[in-house]
Amino acid sequence: MQETTAFIHSIPVDPLTGAISVPIYQTSTFVQEAPGVNKGYDYARTNNPTRATLENLIAQLEEGTTGIAFGSGLAAIDSILKLLNAGDHIVAVDDIYGGAYRLFEQVYKKFDIHVTYVDTSIPGNIFNAITPKTKLIWIETPTNPTLKISDIEAIAKIAKASRCLLCVDNTFASPALQKPLSLGADIVVHSATKYLGGHSDLIAGLVVTKEKELGEKIKFLQNAGGAILAPFDSWLVIRGLETLHLRIKQHCAGAAAVATFLEQHPAVEKVYYPGLLSHPNHEVAARQSTGFGGIVSFKLKDDTEEAAIKIVTSTRLFKLAESLGGIKSLLSHPATMTHKTIPFGKRRAAGVADSLIRLSIGLEDPTDLVKDLKQALTSVTEPTKTKATNGVHSY
Ligand SMILES: *Cc1c(COP(=O)(O)O)cnc(C)c1O
Repeated sequence: MQETTAFIHSIPVDPLTGAISVPIYQTSTFVQEAPGVNKGYDYARTNNPTRATLENLIAQLEEGTTGIAFGSGLAAIDSILKLLNAGDHIVAVDDIYGGAYRLFEQVYKKFDIHVTYVDTSIPGNIFNAITPKTKLIWIETPTNPTLKISDIEAIAKIAKASRCLLCVDNTFASPALQKPLSLGADIVVHSATKYLGGHSDLIAGLVVTKEKELGEKIKFLQNAGGAILAPFDSWLVIRGLETLHLRIKQHCAGAAAVATFLEQHPAVEKVYYPGLLSHPNHEVAARQSTGFGGIVSFKLKDDTEEAAIKIVTSTRLFKLAESLGGIKSLLSHPATMTHKTIPFGKRRAAGVADSLIRLSIGLEDPTDLVKDLKQALTSVTEPTKTKATNGVHSY
């Protein structure tokens, strides 16, 4: 049986009523027959049947043993970091998600947990950064916003040899395209806010572990800290997962069409998309995933903030917003939005050019998305009236 079919039919039918949709158990506590004698649930911070269904489904999709659902992607990341002790060291991808960077640098640093950031698309960089104190390797692949690809299998080997845990933030690919645990990673983390929820209507995080024992440790930390996902939001993520494979197919098709169009556009300097043959790690992406995802970035020949802002304010279908993975196409300008707080030099080093624009391809017809970008790009290719009449250089 194909994965999609198996997955859809593993979403349980309610044994009590036959309801085909997973019931939302909106309850805080569960009645016990005698102290400690219950039906598997006692208090809803510790466990809730709707959340448990979601946790089983994501564990299945990621080919792990234990799924854990959190109130946000960052809450999920936070609980993984709590596995560490003061003095421990992390090696992380250099263009890490900004919120994870903030958590590492402004919260966990205080507790004497330190991070070295390297370009993980070259696995040797990780090997060189590992010290006797290193306990965790943290990667995202593809990364945001320059879509760098890291070789999960090669990095998992380095992690094993150095007795470090490997955690992969799989938000950008989703398990419909890439299964890090099957490539040797120990933990997968998701912002389910993005593709898994899929409709831009919730904030949620998920963790899946390969080993049960590690999963139990994170479950313990979740219960101790309390950053759980509510029953209704758990249900929304389940509802998102029901169409995940179908949506991802369309996101990929749209992204491929847009990337191909942009790559031959005269105003575009460079397109970042792992599906393009010109992508430096295209072969790794093709080997470890079954598709290239719905995010495309590009920078302009006129590499200025002004030019990028003209474009992001000229599109009609693409809406200007942070976040990604929903049904409507979004675009953002990292230099003035998501990456504004990263110091200029660091931002440049991470490849975030002044004119870099990130697209989250939605579920619209790809031909309409290409048309929209085509008309928006005329704002930088056709001289404006003022420029034409001035006719002088303005330094
Ligand atoms: C959005 C995002 C997060 C954080 O998730 P929230 O649900 O916003 O807390 C983490 N990692 C990546 C790659 C993301 O895109």
